[in-house]
Amino acid sequence: MKLAAELVSKGATMLAEPCPADGGIQVRYRGKVYCTTHDDLSSITTASAVSYDSVVAQLREVLLSRLNETTAALGVERDPARQDQLVSLASKYFELLQRLPQK
Ligand SMILES: [Zn+2]
Repeated sequence: MKLAAELVSKGATMLAEPCPADGGIQVRYRGKVYCTTHDDLSSITTASAVSYDSVVAQLREVLLSRLNETTAALGVERDPARQDQLVSLASKYFELLQRLPQK
């Protein structure tokens, strides 16, 4: 029951029908039906904590922030060797940003 509640808090829907095999509580999560008694739900409870979308969104934020810092540093840098490093760094951030899926 506690597990079912946890799954519901992660977006699962509790089903009215009990599991045909053992009468356990069933939940629907991302289009699949799981029995909270006999299915291994550890993968769902841990996997749903980190979603692809949230990682992409976080990565985009980090990259933008670093790109902004690198651009600012480049603007005041006098040493050509250091400028070269900064341009290379900014180029990598920029490239990765462009590879991220667009919303
Ligand atoms: Zn079951």
